[in-house]
Amino acid sequence: MPLARAMGEEVRNVIIIGSGPAGYTAGLYTSRAMLEPLMFAGYMSGGQLMLTSDIENFPGYPEGIAGPEMMMQLREQAERFGLEVQDRNVDRVDLSERPFKVYTEGEEYKAHAIIICTGAESIWLGAEGEEEQKGRGISTCATCDGAFFRDQEILVVGGGDSAMEEATFLTRFASKVTLVHRRDVFRASQVMYDRAANHDKIEIKTFRQVTKWLSDDSGLSGAVLEDPRDGSTEEIAVTGAFIAIGHKPITGFLEGQLETDDEGYLVHKELTMTSIPGVFAAGDVVDTRYKQAITAAGLGCQAAIDAERWLEDNVH
Ligand code: NAP
Repeated sequence: MPLARAMGEEVRNVIIIGSGPAGYTAGLYTSRAMLEPLMFAGYMSGGQLMLTSDIENFPGYPEGIAGPEMMMQLREQAERFGLEVQDRNVDRVDLSERPFKVYTEGEEYKAHAIIICTGAESIWLGAEGEEEQKGRGISTCATCDGAFFRDQEILVVGGGDSAMEEATFLTRFASKVTLVHRRDVFRASQVMYDRAANHDKIEIKTFRQVTKWLSDDSGLSGAVLEDPRDGSTEEIAVTGAFIAIGHKPITGFLEGQLETDDEGYLVHKELTMTSIPGVFAAGDVVDTRYKQAITAAGLGCQAAIDAERWLEDNVH
């Protein structure tokens, strides 16, 4: 029997926090289950895929699809079945008793169940001189900022798929892209490594760690690169740099109320349920291994089904 929100009742069945593929899939499933879900999508709704150019590995798109377009479609699909989306950030939550409380811009919302899909955000290097150049000469998002570096020489840091993707994308604008990685083994998939390595505008340098960013009056001017094997250094002249060394889960608003692993990822205790019954988690905020759009969507589906069954057993 469908679960419905009683008239005049202020407590939502389920609030979804976050709006990447996990959040929208959870929204699609919970709205089709007649749970009348409410989503806080964040100011930058859509999550990391809003910053991704082409997605070629999500089944069903033989020609690939741009990240923002896919997120728009996922949102439309969930909204068609009644998902209510508010493009606001959640400031904090109170999970100490049920119904749970969710706070956004000074307003309080209550829910019997919560699905957390807040994903992960870029990690910065923390090298000397980085703070002053953040968002100016140094970025973590080629899709957002690449066009500012037309005909310039650019440095990309990292050895995973993100670094390969950023370097390849940046060849559209840059006169040259140098990709530096701290060792000679790459986490990147072979196909994405090959695409970058075979590009005539990209040079890959291994055993290089940025220890210092250099700047002059007009902004970023270069970086000091250290060889971790012997500590020797060299300077490289670049006017733009992109750091692509991975992501960390977005859990600050939880203020430690849910159990995490050592790296801060939420942990599942029973199926997709976290350490507090009624609170579920899906997507990159919980996924230390796969971190794919398709696996996030799959987890969002699982969390929605788990939440629906938990509500049936415990609330309605
Ligand atoms: P990742 O695979 O974890 O790679 C991070 C890279 O940054 C590693 O090469 C790591 O070096 C390096 N690194 C980490 N900390 C560093 C530091 N302090 N200084 C210098 N280098 C550092 O992260 P990702 O590339 O963001 O990818 C995350 C996930 O998303 C992966 O599963 C990937 O497949 C997926 N992804 C997929 C696509 C796609 O298919 N289109 C695109 C982007 C990302 P070490 O190897 O030495 O640790």
